[in-house]
Amino acid sequence: MKPVILFAAGATRWRHWEAPLRAALDEAGIDAELVTEAEPETVDFILFAPGGDIPPDFTAFTRCKAVLSLWAGVERIVGNPTLTQPLCRMVDPGLTQGMVEYVVGHTLRLHLGIDAVLASQNGRWNPAVPPLAGERQVAVLGLGALGSACAQALAGLGFPVLGWSRRARDMDGITCLHGDTGLRTALSQAQIVVTLLPATPETENLLNAETLALLPRGAALINPGRGTLIDDAALLQALDSGQVRQATLDVFRTEPLPPDHPFWTHPRVTVTPHIAAETRPPSASRVLVENIRRGLAGEPFLHLVDRSAGY
Ligand code: NAP
Repeated sequence: MKPVILFAAGATRWRHWEAPLRAALDEAGIDAELVTEAEPETVDFILFAPGGDIPPDFTAFTRCKAVLSLWAGVERIVGNPTLTQPLCRMVDPGLTQGMVEYVVGHTLRLHLGIDAVLASQNGRWNPAVPPLAGERQVAVLGLGALGSACAQALAGLGFPVLGWSRRARDMDGITCLHGDTGLRTALSQAQIVVTLLPATPETENLLNAETLALLPRGAALINPGRGTLIDDAALLQALDSGQVRQATLDVFRTEPLPPDHPFWTHPRVTVTPHIAAETRPPSASRVLVENIRRGLAGEPFLHLVDRSAGY
């Protein structure tokens, strides 16, 4: 019997995913039924994204070997008590490349003061030379698939990079820190902070009045992680006081960001609409199919979510 793969991520996404998924299955030599509807008890794998077609109750999917997320962030599914099957998150080379480009681009923008340069095209010759990357301390909070790639790209440009994670890590060219003391060390030195942490109870409001006060005055923040990492009111206060000179925010507690949210009009905030990095169907389909292959062969899955840690 052919394995049944249920694409439960919505009709719009299906239009972009069907062809690359079929191509990746062919490439891997897997003969499967790839469908958008099926009786739950016949399904072997679920391809999932928030806002898709799957009911919130996974109980009836008795044969399902794994739920494979199209998204890197799994906070909207990880706590579902009916999900007893293995849950794998997305680690996609295309997504990672997108995030590296977003983080490097905005870090260089803040480092070189490009906003101020553009705002001062007023006929006055003002030769203010920015420092070199080696003179600008960057901290990357979160050293997972995305954070580690961004940290390494920034280090490759010459920025001294402090990285912070939950567990102790060792990465070439990065000063790795962990734990509460590590966070304090990273924040107290960082002129640019990049947050690439998942949304979990432990990371909620990590950047609050107390931790933002640890930053050197005038530090800048780039948050492509999750909106819950930041206490919005504390950030607005830190921006108003000049403690934080600029915040570039891609993710928010409520998305789309409500039109009356003060971030939209704050002169020191750049809002991007959750576009830092998207899963790219051609490369991501190969990642999903590799996990399907593993599930069929009884091999361990890649990118398994640790339910107790929440990511
Ligand atoms: P990941 O591989 O799971 O890495 C998460 C990192 O965060 C790990 O280094 C982990 O530490 C660290 N971490 C988790 N909880 C922590 C805690 N309590 N204290 C300190 N460090 C903690 O995730 P990823 O693939 O890099 O993705 C990171 C996040 O980016 C996703 O969860 C998602 O929210 C966000 N994202 C955003 C976009 C966008 O377009 N804006 C796109 C994709 C993803 P350990 O290394 O010790 O495990």
